[in-house]
Amino acid sequence: MAEILIQNASHVLTMDDARREMAGVDIRIKDGVIAEIGHGLAGGAETVLASGCVVTPGLVNTHHHLYQTLTRAVPGGQDALLFGWLQTLYPIWSRFGPDEMFISAQVGLAELMLSGCTLTSDHLYLFPNGARLDDTIDAAAEIGMRFHPTRGAMSIGESDGGLPPDMLVEREEDILNDAIRLVDRFHDASEGSMCRVGVAPCSPFSVSRDLMRDAAILARDKGVMLHTHLAENDEDIAYSLEKFGCRPGQYAEDLGWTGDDVWHAHCVKLDGQEIDLFARSKTGVAHCPCSNCRLGSGIAPVRAMRDAGVPVGLGVDGSASNDAGNLVLEARQSMLLQRVSQGADAMSAREALEIATRGGAEVLGRSDCGQIAVGKRADLAIWDVTGIESAGSWDPAAIFLAGPTQVRDLFIEGRQVVRDGIVTTLDLPKVIERQNEMAQKLAS
Ligand SMILES: [Zn+2]
Repeated sequence: MAEILIQNASHVLTMDDARREMAGVDIRIKDGVIAEIGHGLAGGAETVLASGCVVTPGLVNTHHHLYQTLTRAVPGGQDALLFGWLQTLYPIWSRFGPDEMFISAQVGLAELMLSGCTLTSDHLYLFPNGARLDDTIDAAAEIGMRFHPTRGAMSIGESDGGLPPDMLVEREEDILNDAIRLVDRFHDASEGSMCRVGVAPCSPFSVSRDLMRDAAILARDKGVMLHTHLAENDEDIAYSLEKFGCRPGQYAEDLGWTGDDVWHAHCVKLDGQEIDLFARSKTGVAHCPCSNCRLGSGIAPVRAMRDAGVPVGLGVDGSASNDAGNLVLEARQSMLLQRVSQGADAMSAREALEIATRGGAEVLGRSDCGQIAVGKRADLAIWDVTGIESAGSWDPAAIFLAGPTQVRDLFIEGRQVVRDGIVTTLDLPKVIERQNEMAQKLAS
């Protein structure tokens, strides 16, 4: 693979173990890995000038539903709480098929890339009309994103007291068999892996206790990670108390859903005991502040989680409840929300960057990503800080206080996937046009 020299970066926030920051340095990328960092490195390779730029590790997104980029700002769901929002959207999603999954994933992945993301998970939990997780995996491979797709599922439909319509639920045996097929076919556990598959029943209110337990057994047997939604809002807690007789943390623990191979989305309503449980067991959290605001769910206790030692990463969540998929905006929102509830010193711009990079990598079990250090994967974001957003900034490296919301350049596994603000791996205007045609058709 080509060797690339990123030259004369004005400021590098490494997020390495010492959290070093360096000025005027070069970074050599070779064979997908960061090979050398230093001043005045010898050339001989393709060079990318980074003067006037801040370089950070690529951002990591730990929770998404890529297919939802096709249902942004749907009028009936704009002002609803979680359960009402879901009931508005389920009938629309039931008309999706493989093409809708593929195109919406490409749009979502491109949007993430432009906001500096180099590693994302995805949670796909409905498979109407022949749609498969394979459709999103194909989309990620084509665009060049490092991808952690998770095989979601819903098995309790309306007629069994669940929330989703019966046509969107699957038999539990089929769900587990497809998860096995996907792990065997696509999961790559090796260092530098571009695809790792996870097992991810949608939520405790859309699958049975048996499926939660069997999914955990299957994931451990296969050596893959587990993911679901947990403790998202007050309705969610009330449902858990009424149906299961316990809080969500207890439910998760009882069914094998704690550990460093598990991460839960939201966790807005975790109490002190649940935070201790997650810290002790190193259970990860995907914090999705914009979605939590959008659905009025509340402010996740991220300060308390971080202080206790819970691994926390950021998630944009699906684009039907955000309705953006920009990780920079997400990181800024996480910083601001903690300040709303805990005071102005509750989270610095650099801590928000740490959560957005190495924090997310830890949650996804990727010790090879999330920091700029020799031997780590070459996932790098280059931010131009000569523009209007940074003009007058006394600390251009504090990009979440004052800085661009899109990258100039982005490298994933040493491959340049964004150059001068343009995605290099697909014809984005064409993909957007196709997506808009699909959205119009779904709306008619
Ligand atoms: Zn979600």
